[in-house]
Amino acid sequence: MTDILDAAVERAGLPVHWSWRIEVRPRRRTLGLDVLPDGSIVIAVPRQTTPEDVTGVLRERRLWLAKAVRRREALAAEHPAKELVNGEGFTYLGRHYRLLLVDEQTAPVRLRGGWLRLRGDAGAADIVDWYRVRGRHWLIEKVRSWAGRVGVEPPEVLVRDLSTRWGLRTKDRSLAFHWASMQLSPDLLDLVVVHELIHLLVPRHDDEFRQRLLVALPEAVVLESKLHDEGRRVWMGAVRAAL
Ligand SMILES: [Zn+2]
Repeated sequence: MTDILDAAVERAGLPVHWSWRIEVRPRRRTLGLDVLPDGSIVIAVPRQTTPEDVTGVLRERRLWLAKAVRRREALAAEHPAKELVNGEGFTYLGRHYRLLLVDEQTAPVRLRGGWLRLRGDAGAADIVDWYRVRGRHWLIEKVRSWAGRVGVEPPEVLVRDLSTRWGLRTKDRSLAFHWASMQLSPDLLDLVVVHELIHLLVPRHDDEFRQRLLVALPEAVVLESKLHDEGRRVWMGAVRAAL
């Protein structure tokens, strides 16, 4: 059956560089399209699908697919996935380190002698956790030293996954930072920290906010554009299998 469906997909005339696969899902009633994080397309078909259905739906939804593939590819390119193999590069506070897989080590992840050492049974989640725990210690100090200059009491500091944000103010006036921000260089983390500290005084990005930001950090505008640039390339935790 899938041979016939493959041919039906070919007839829909999708761009040749798109990768796709058909999955027969007996419990589905309608044909579904999904674009995976790497930009490949999954065509989920119910058992009774006809080749004409497949060709028809793909032709109909070509534009939607093109946009979805493009978006996924752009995101994947900007936030590259890592391979957990010796020599893979990781960044901490703007410095580059290489991954070294080790057999014996008490902690799953350690930074030592210029290497990010990963124990054999550990994985990406352990590296994320390492950024989170180590980052929190670092950020607590940073927040404390900036709080006085901004004119606020040092708040509680949390580090976690904030999706597309570097930092935010929680309802109970703690500051939360994205674990991935620990890859940024310290001057950019200053910007992130000062930005969030000022939010404890001024919730919106209005004139008063900008004033306070520039008084605390006169180079803020330059740093903002640098953050926009550097920020798009940080690792967000995705891994790909070694070839
Ligand atoms: Zn803000």
